[in-house]
Amino acid sequence: MIALSLAEIAAVVGGQTHDIPDPSVQVTGPVVRDSREAVPGSLFVAFAGERVDGHDFAADVVAAGAVAVLASRPVGVPAIVVEDVQSALGALARHVVAELGATLVALTGSAGKTSTKDLIAQVLRSKAPTVFTPGSLNNEIGLPLTALTATEETKYLVLEMGARGIGHIRYLTGLTPPKVGLVLNVGSAHIGEFGGREQIAQAKGELVESLPPAEEGGTAILNADDPLVRAMASRTQAKVLLFGEAGEADVRAENVRLTDSGQPSFRLHTPSGACDVTMRLYGEHHVSNALAAAAVAHELGMSATEIATALSGAGSLSRWRMEVTERPDGVTVVNDAYNANPESMRAALRALAAMGKGRRTWAVLGKMAELGDEALAEHDAVGRLAVRLNVSKLVAVGGREASWLQLGAYNEGSWGEESVHVSDAQAAVHLLRSELRPGDVVLVKASRSVGLESVAQALVETG
Ligand code: ATP
Ligand code: MG
Repeated sequence: MIALSLAEIAAVVGGQTHDIPDPSVQVTGPVVRDSREAVPGSLFVAFAGERVDGHDFAADVVAAGAVAVLASRPVGVPAIVVEDVQSALGALARHVVAELGATLVALTGSAGKTSTKDLIAQVLRSKAPTVFTPGSLNNEIGLPLTALTATEETKYLVLEMGARGIGHIRYLTGLTPPKVGLVLNVGSAHIGEFGGREQIAQAKGELVESLPPAEEGGTAILNADDPLVRAMASRTQAKVLLFGEAGEADVRAENVRLTDSGQPSFRLHTPSGACDVTMRLYGEHHVSNALAAAAVAHELGMSATEIATALSGAGSLSRWRMEVTERPDGVTVVNDAYNANPESMRAALRALAAMGKGRRTWAVLGKMAELGDEALAEHDAVGRLAVRLNVSKLVAVGGREASWLQLGAYNEGSWGEESVHVSDAQAAVHLLRSELRPGDVVLVKASRSVGLESVAQALVETG
């Protein structure tokens, strides 16, 4: 982060200094919330959680070299004491990003935020120093902590913003006001919590409402293929740039296809030219993510050729998203166990079908969480799609939702032994260990809470 003295930080967050012999001592970073990450120069942010109270670690972090603790009560070591630690952290982030010369890019959406954020980061950093959200740290704590890792050298700050309700994105954009705001899609993720797609669109659209007007450089980047996202154009004063496969999109893809290994290939068109892209990532859903990243990069002055080169070289920076491992015995394991929703289930199944041409394919699937009233229909539809794509075997893992997956497959294709329902991950591993043959391709995917990565990992280790 940019170096700030304890006195300056106390003033920014409206806190009282306690047990601080020299307020001119500087925090040089990082700002951490995990006491184990404290190093000389750190500021430790003490959150009082339900199980663990950060304040209990104040002495440890100072012993590790931290300069002070941001706390809600005096802790016997140098501290800046505030009423509300989370608001103070937010105020500090807001102050720091205002001091920086960096261009802020924020993105949200129902699915693909992290995948797209990682693509944007890889494209922009081919041009200039870029700081971006690690993994999915996209909430009111992760976002300011990420912003605080930016330095004077940082040219681009790319921030993933997550929303679990109305007002969440507004709060986040208040901490780190973006100049470029991207909305990927409005899908069914968390639909149970929100109450419906319209409400999700309402919440995600807060991102474009926060942008500066076009005259001040604000740009909203919207998915032309998603009607609820596209409609957000009327909610912003910023310039609007559209991406997608729709003909009128400013940034679009032509001749989209999946290579035999399941990697998307297409011709990228931006207002500055056209260039071919073949991605290293798997699954056609990455085309939309790549176009979104290309639109951001175009807006920030990169040529179509520069963007295409960076997109073709981009890998996966986050784990368990279509992570492909070739076992020595010729079995291919595709670990997409990070999360699942109907859109990504379909994309992953289609990638499996493309990768599995002439091979036996296995879809090891678990439930898609938080679908509310749509849960039965969506699981049924995924089971049916597996049959229509000629997946050789479906292994549905878990409880009720897994039985819906299996039933969908059964009803679509009068499947018998091609679909199996097992109770848990261990049973799935047991089955697969005895049934897999060299040359098979196995996709493993479910919502985060199912934890199917254990299956993928066990299969990779077996090889
Ligand atoms: P989270 O809300 O957990 O942070 P996220 O929005 O960051 O999720 P990712 O982690 O990028 O999303 O991807 C989650 C899942 O969605 C993965 O299984 C991935 O394969 C899939 N996915 C990625 N991009 C898309 C997309 N454009 N449309 C649908 N699904 C996608
Ligand atoms: Mg994420």
